[in-house]
Amino acid sequence: MITVIDLIHLRRCVVLAREALQAGDSPFGSVLVKNSTGQVLREDRNRITTGRDVTLHPELSLVIWAQRQQDLDRSDTTVYTSGEHCPMCATAHANAGMGRIVYVASSEQLCEWRKEMGAPPTPVALLPIEIVAPALKGVVEGPVTTKDPSLVERVKELHRVKHQQTQNQARAQTQG
Ligand SMILES: [Zn+2]
Repeated sequence: MITVIDLIHLRRCVVLAREALQAGDSPFGSVLVKNSTGQVLREDRNRITTGRDVTLHPELSLVIWAQRQQDLDRSDTTVYTSGEHCPMCATAHANAGMGRIVYVASSEQLCEWRKEMGAPPTPVALLPIEIVAPALKGVVEGPVTTKDPSLVERVKELHRVKHQQTQNQARAQTQG
């Protein structure tokens, strides 16, 4: 069940996603929380463009960071994120024994939006987390359409702006 506390963290993810967009990256943001204390351990945003590395997804960065913390029980954590984990991040999450995942928008929604916007499909199939990592069945929650539908709308808007920017850049390049 998605709680009021979850919504606070999810809203922060959307703020981080907006920061990523403003910096020139893809609009995704994530927050890592320790379940037993409620403490925010770390947050990150997508950095694939500014960091020149296609693996700089915030969900993966948080798993990498968590593995380096000596006294952290990784199963006692929640990764909140603006968009459902992609297969790369879901794989890392499951293999590292991380805990709960709560996301705002699903990969299915993202794919639908991309189709609506006329964007090409992503090179990798954005399969649902539980298909990529069956071990995570029961600990994944999202999308948050019923609790706070405006959150999904905000994420959609960020992706729309990103798509527009990408198109403008492509147009500018072809025009030389
Ligand atoms: Zn990812």
